[in-house]
Amino acid sequence: MSAARIRVSEIFGPTIQGEGVLIGLPTVFVRTGGCDYRCSWCDTLHAVDSEYRDQWQPMSVDEIWQEVTRLSGGKPLTISLSGGNPAIQPLGALIAHGHAEGYRFALETQGSVAKEWFAELDTLVLSPKPPSSGMLTDWAAFDDCLRMAASGPQIALKIVVFDDADYAYAKEAASRYPHLPLYLQPGNHTPPPPDEEDAVVDIEGVMDRMRWLVDKVSDDRWFEARVLPQLHVLIWGNRRGV
Ligand code: SF4
Repeated sequence: MSAARIRVSEIFGPTIQGEGVLIGLPTVFVRTGGCDYRCSWCDTLHAVDSEYRDQWQPMSVDEIWQEVTRLSGGKPLTISLSGGNPAIQPLGALIAHGHAEGYRFALETQGSVAKEWFAELDTLVLSPKPPSSGMLTDWAAFDDCLRMAASGPQIALKIVVFDDADYAYAKEAASRYPHLPLYLQPGNHTPPPPDEEDAVVDIEGVMDRMRWLVDKVSDDRWFEARVLPQLHVLIWGNRRGV
């Protein structure tokens, strides 16, 4: 087994996947620490900001696997590799080990860093960040991610939309990759203070944006797009570890 250590922010579950192509599916989450982006509305600052680095554990595949097995009771399910940006961690050996045990792997990344082991995933969710994030998309790096994954996983696009500029960005992204299923997600304006277990979420604000987004897509006759809220936010707010 690989000796490379993986920087882990938290491992939790099983719970349901709250968004995108696998919404509702029982899942254990392995959230890695560290990100090459710093989005203005990031809702996982505890896995991004170096201020929380002392909470991130460098873990071996064996150590992660012990925890995944404990949480899942040893019954295979889908493991979501999230972050931060999980693509900056050495996850190939973990995926190989889990597959041998019958588990499946989904990974979500913004598409800024491509890895050969993307081809070993079962699901790759590419979530390029729209203008409201304050980040600029490197489409060449994004294309590299698609190339790495070409022979392997199902691939989906997921784009968070806060406003008209984000919506226009989503349309441009969809026109670049018309073969990929597209999920639009209304933005959540109330990221939690990372140390708070139960941050208050403006659910009505999220639902207002959801209604606005559904109307936009419908009025545009954009029938290829699927619009989904973050289910876990509606159920639990911005609580960590659910
Ligand atoms: Fe946060 Fe994701 Fe942006 Fe990284 S890419 S800063 S994890 S929202």
